[in-house]
Amino acid sequence: TFAPPHSRAVPGFAVSFEFFPPRTAEMEASLWSAFQRLAPLGPRFASVTYGAGGSTRDRTHQIVARMRRVSDIEPAAHLTCVDASRATLEEVIHSYRQVGVRHIVALRGDPAEGVGEAYVPHPQGFQTTAELVAAIKRSGDLEVSVSAYPEKHPESRDFDADIDVLAAKVDAGASRAITQFFFDNDHFYRFRDRLEKRGIDIPLVPGIFPISNFSQAARFAGRCGTHVPGWLAERFEGLDDDPDTRRLVAATVVAEQVFDLAANGVDEFHFYTLNRAELVYATCHMLGLRAMTTDAAA
Ligand code: FAD
Repeated sequence: TFAPPHSRAVPGFAVSFEFFPPRTAEMEASLWSAFQRLAPLGPRFASVTYGAGGSTRDRTHQIVARMRRVSDIEPAAHLTCVDASRATLEEVIHSYRQVGVRHIVALRGDPAEGVGEAYVPHPQGFQTTAELVAAIKRSGDLEVSVSAYPEKHPESRDFDADIDVLAAKVDAGASRAITQFFFDNDHFYRFRDRLEKRGIDIPLVPGIFPISNFSQAARFAGRCGTHVPGWLAERFEGLDDDPDTRRLVAATVVAEQVFDLAANGVDEFHFYTLNRAELVYATCHMLGLRAMTTDAAA
């Protein structure tokens, strides 16, 4: 098994890591190698995403179950409302509980047909994410995290409407908000101020996206409404065929981002790992986290 998270006892920063269910055996090997590398850092939890329309339902389940079996890290399973009746979602929640999952990241999700399609709730499904959160809380003693959007969700009319949605999720029992990734920290600070004014006081954990491939990151950002500042594009300019420099630049960019957040009162970070450990590990190391090895990890 992997190392128990002794580093939780070390005062300082808390981290969590997000993985996605792989489609091929090769990708599966990268997932477990990234998990094995990162787990000894003692994250607060490791989460596993849920594919559009439940497409990864079984794989998400298998991965969280295996995380539970092979480590002491708390697995958090994502769950979305897309294309599923209440009965189906209640079954999935039950199956997560059965393998020892005690933390769910509850989401609305996007239409399975892809970005740009209007979201229509399943006729027998939950109409809002808050309803899903309430159902999870009713099903027993589970922790629920939800999403938040420092640059507002692309479908939102305005920040107030977006924050109403978050407030409803908190009222339904969510106890942590993990943000969409952002590259300009000012968006996070302004959003945090808005939540404070609204009296929303659950932890707001910034979602950090380490850039190992700039054009891929810019594509993802375009899809979810994350602004890519000009200075960031300039940092990666001309490095497409220079992986060594790109890696060094990438490590610097993400370190600058987390240190600025830390200097502004943030003490918990959620990393979108994309099933790769290197940049995340280096960033956590710079934040002072150290891998704890034990006999069990040998
Ligand atoms: P909500 O917080 O419920 O709503 C966000 C906004 O969408 C609202 O403010 C509102 O403007 C709009 N909205 C919501 N409902 C409606 C409605 N009925 N009609 C009109 N507008 C509406 N996606 C996955 O498929 N799988 C994952 O595992 C996954 N994990 C994620 C983890 C994090 C931390 C984040 C930030 C996002 C994740 N996503 C995932 C993406 C997410 O599903 C999409 O951003 C989706 O568009 C919104 O889901 P949500 O739960 O954030 O929505």
